[in-house]
Amino acid sequence: MLEESSNSIGTGQNIAIDHRRFLKKDIRNFSELAQVFHQRPRRASVRNPVAGNYDFLPSTTIPASQNPGFRVPVDRYETNVACPGCGCVCDDLTLKFAGNQLQAISPQCSLAEAWFQDRGRTDRPAVELNCQLASFTVGVNRAAEILRRADYPLIYGLSRSATAGQRAAVELAERIGAVIDTTASMCHGPSIMAIQEFGESTCTLGEVRNRADLVIFWGCHPGASHPRHAERYSVSPPGRYRAGGRSDRTIVLVGPADQVHDWRLDPAGAAADLVIPLERGRDFEAIALLREALRTGSANGLPPELRKLSELMRGCRTGVVFFGLGLVETRMWSGDALPTAGNVNVGALLQLVAEMNAHARFFARRMRLQGDVSGADNVLTWQTGFPFAVDLSRGAPRYNPGEFSASELLNRGDVDACLLIGAETLRYFSRAALDHLQSIPTILLDYPGAEQIIAPEVSFTTAVYGLHAPGTIYRMDNVPVPLRALADTEYPTDEAVLHAIGERL
Ligand code: SF4
Repeated sequence: MLEESSNSIGTGQNIAIDHRRFLKKDIRNFSELAQVFHQRPRRASVRNPVAGNYDFLPSTTIPASQNPGFRVPVDRYETNVACPGCGCVCDDLTLKFAGNQLQAISPQCSLAEAWFQDRGRTDRPAVELNCQLASFTVGVNRAAEILRRADYPLIYGLSRSATAGQRAAVELAERIGAVIDTTASMCHGPSIMAIQEFGESTCTLGEVRNRADLVIFWGCHPGASHPRHAERYSVSPPGRYRAGGRSDRTIVLVGPADQVHDWRLDPAGAAADLVIPLERGRDFEAIALLREALRTGSANGLPPELRKLSELMRGCRTGVVFFGLGLVETRMWSGDALPTAGNVNVGALLQLVAEMNAHARFFARRMRLQGDVSGADNVLTWQTGFPFAVDLSRGAPRYNPGEFSASELLNRGDVDACLLIGAETLRYFSRAALDHLQSIPTILLDYPGAEQIIAPEVSFTTAVYGLHAPGTIYRMDNVPVPLRALADTEYPTDEAVLHAIGERL
């Protein structure tokens, strides 16, 4: 691709020119300059999920009527961009590009900036075999050989992918008789188990914005993990029935006693109306007390903060509880060697929310993290019937978290090959699991800029959905959001790599 700058050439238009061509040809007049521009190659077409194929036209391209036969990419602005940086999947970003380079993001969000900048890097080789550069064909052939020889392979990750890649992963798992597991087993897996047992009173984030007058964040720090959640959905935006925005809502934070007083609703430092500190491991007890007060109609025996919360819950018209890993208490939150009974905590909360619906509309929603972790649940569920930890080795899906979840399989040394689609949660695996992972053939598909904490035998750097490739991602409320391709890349998508591996099996 040509290198471009945005020098003005004095025609009244701000036209970008290629210095190398300009200097090489020693152009002295504008008629020669126009000839050079006519020789410029056109940019490659990219696929738009909404409009189909189209020829890439930067938003600041000079109109054809003023521009004799050539189009020049200068600064361009991509609007209404969806961001996979966290489960909010805000779809109102404006990204400024100069050529293929991302220059700025608006509105400001530190997580979004980090996400797009890390994934926009181009310094990682597309394919490596034993840490040496390799061709795509060599990498795919070796990956296929590893999976063909394995007796009990594992496919793990998927949450930094999008629907197309996740579907290709399930297809491959079915073909080779693998266990397939997602990063949910390291984060909201216990929540999913509780939802399967007790059901979930759900709503979209739009309903929260339009209706909720009581918003409870339980075991999560939205200002850090979901920087624009408060601004877009839950705290300050005016809604259809909450025209006053912040003044029409009561916000409650519930969390660990040693942290919750420092938690904020957004990066600007907005504070909650009520903060309830709990000793670690007392979430279940607090929820049980709230359920008892609701059942008896008397909150007299409760500690003061819980009594206040009970009154708020009984007095609201529409309430929602957003709960995070602080309630689930998986290793990603607590760092403990073994997960606690997070599904029991979440189950109690889901029952409380269901019981609250006798008094008001009440919902519970998980605070999902970055990437398409909700999409991974959805795709696995509609492909196999189960959301994570699925064993396909016997031809029919079997589901058993703890037995078929990646961390435990590796911990026990059960699997003899591993295909990782995103490695961001490996740092939460036990030492024994990581040691076993390093002792078996490993294939890694990951984004540019992703942290690598193991040295895989075969490594593919893949295109980023929402930056280099179109796709579909699921928001934390399970609403699917389309992603667009915004920049060119040499990297293939994970869907393309997985299909290529499948063809060589
Ligand atoms: S809050 Fe999350 S989805 Fe929204 S812009 Fe920030 S990182 Fe992206």
